[in-house]
Amino acid sequence: MPNPFLKYLSGLASLVFPQVCRGCGESVEINRAVLCRKCEAELPRTYFEKVPGNPVEQMFWGRCQLQFATSLFFYRKGELLQDIIHQLKYKGHKHSGFYLGQQAGRILLREGMTNRFDIVVPVPLHARKEKNRGYNQSRIIAEGLEDITSIRVAGDAVIRTVYSDSQTRKGRYERWQNVEGIFKVLHKDVFRNKHLLILDDVVTTGATIEALCMAFSDIENIQLSVLTIGIAAG
Ligand SMILES: [Zn+2]
Repeated sequence: MPNPFLKYLSGLASLVFPQVCRGCGESVEINRAVLCRKCEAELPRTYFEKVPGNPVEQMFWGRCQLQFATSLFFYRKGELLQDIIHQLKYKGHKHSGFYLGQQAGRILLREGMTNRFDIVVPVPLHARKEKNRGYNQSRIIAEGLEDITSIRVAGDAVIRTVYSDSQTRKGRYERWQNVEGIFKVLHKDVFRNKHLLILDDVVTTGATIEALCMAFSDIENIQLSVLTIGIAAG
């Protein structure tokens, strides 16, 4: 029998913050603010984390040496995941990012992979962009992942030094040129002898992540892996 007072409180909270699923609009449990279980189960999982040599790892072959790489979901225009990430990046819905990070954390836990990584490195935004947005969306995702796995998130030991505008209209080569040398590791000792899990919202060409990997290349005994929530799939 649920405590009637708690029930009253949670009823009150749901009046103040209507808990509706972003996917179907049905009401959802109080601490499940983004998707209901059904919509969550319908997100297009890649299961790449189970596949050595998966398409995300292939994307980085010959570009950076990674221990492991995966994207959790296929990211397609007009689909629910795009909507959630759009809300996160442009509408201030930080809880959407935290939720996605928790999902990532649960998947890593289920795969027994959490012990591999020492530190999570969200892809940094340029300070100006972060100021405009109010936060770095990848960092919010990383905090959700940390909440589930306890893998700590790197502070500001690495920064983005070059401001770049939206890269969506540029070709792969131009984009690559555009991101080379744009990150700077301020405190290299933080990463020495560590296995880093680089985290981003969506990977398209991999150029940004490649540039970030290059920034770590002269650090002693470092290992790099990559996890993104989505992989652009048309
Ligand atoms: Zn739903």
